Amino acid sequence: MVWFGRRGIAAALLVLVGLAPSLAAAEDAKLKAVATFSILADLVAQVGGDRVAVTSLVGPDADAHGYAPTPGDARKLAEANLIVVNGLGFEGWMERLIKASGSKAPLVVASKNVKTIAGSHDHDDHDHGDHGHDHGEGDHADPHAWQNVANVKLYVANIRDGLTAADPANAALYTANAAAYTQKLDALDAEIRAALAAIPQERRRIITTHDSFGYFSAAYGMRFLAPQGISTDSEAGPKDVARIIRQIRRDKVPAVFVESIADPRLMQQIARESGAKVGGRIYSDALSAPGGPAPGYLEMMRSNLTAFREALS
Ligand SMILES: [Zn+2]
Repeated sequence: MVWFGRRGIAAALLVLVGLAPSLAAAEDAKLKAVATFSILADLVAQVGGDRVAVTSLVGPDADAHGYAPTPGDARKLAEANLIVVNGLGFEGWMERLIKASGSKAPLVVASKNVKTIAGSHDHDDHDHGDHGHDHGEGDHADPHAWQNVANVKLYVANIRDGLTAADPANAALYTANAAAYTQKLDALDAEIRAALAAIPQERRRIITTHDSFGYFSAAYGMRFLAPQGISTDSEAGPKDVARIIRQIRRDKVPAVFVESIADPRLMQQIARESGAKVGGRIYSDALSAPGGPAPGYLEMMRSNLTAFREALS
């Protein structure tokens, strides 16, 4: 054991006391960005790197559709230097929350410039299996644009531009980070295409609880069905469930998937009554917790891909 003596301890304490405020100052110097949900927060963190402190209002494994904001959320917005939302009606609760918070922070709509597709409404009597079926006026755009990797490249560009406008001193860093992450997105896109191409066409069908894989299906050549609409706000009715079961039987759909944010019982019931098997847990609207299989966007997409391959190949 080494004895430093009183003077040594005093010196060590001084060093510690001196360090604490400088660490706090480093945190303070970071741009404070608030993202509405975990997937978006990851993208902001990828582009912002160590210059940005990112907070997500809706956490991992949580459903952003019907989220009820807390007073703590309003405080986070009030302190934010930048707010990042998905847009496309995904965060219906956000406008009021921003107003209530008094925040004057600039707002980045990450989905800006995305070519939207219409959500398939499942709460009527039509039998419309294919996703993207257009029901004309009054249809809402499907907000789950991040399920197509090409769209996430636009998200990253919009986030880069927002960070650059809010913090021009670090523009070069944000540009470099965005470019590096975009390369990873290109590799992911190619990986998804190659993996799905290996699944026989007639087995490329996804059934999930809510209508969240429309962009994925359109981009990567899957057929997609869900008993619930593009939001989780309304429950799937008995007619919706009966229709899905009929289609699974008719089209010999191999598997249904349980979303991490959804109650698994509906899919278990549909699987039981239709003869399809229950595929792995998939991530549509939220990341997993840090130790889970989908702690970031890239991991999330790869984890879903593995689940699809295992159930459909
Ligand atoms: Zn959703």
